Amino acid sequence: MTDDSFRLEEAEAPTVSCTRCEREWDLDDELDDLGPGSHAIEQFALDHERHTGHYPDDVNPWSVRCRRCPGGEQFLSERPARRWAETHARHTRHAVRIEAPTGAEDVVSGGSDGDRS
Ligand SMILES: [Zn+2]
Ligand SMILES: [Zn+2]
Repeated sequence: MTDDSFRLEEAEAPTVSCTRCEREWDLDDELDDLGPGSHAIEQFALDHERHTGHYPDDVNPWSVRCRRCPGGEQFLSERPARRWAETHARHTRHAVRIEAPTGAEDVVSGGSDGDRS
């Protein structure tokens, strides 16, 4: 029942490593403003991807790819991935494929309003 007693003690400084860069980061320093937990890793991973084009180790993004449009997006959790897919599908009526980190796939198709033109 001491819920808040482990807030700081258990929060070890998260470290992120990247075998491609052969580097390892201690996120503790960068975290002060963001708060503990996976959120920082998420931020870091997105940042790392933006700079290097790949994600650090142990980060398995959700990939969202439109079948018609080039490129795609990657997200670190299902909700934004799904939201992107649904928004894109709704606007363009394209079918968008969502790939989970587990390898499972899902397709969001546009035109759910029944227009069959
Ligand atoms: Zn890297
Ligand atoms: Zn598209």
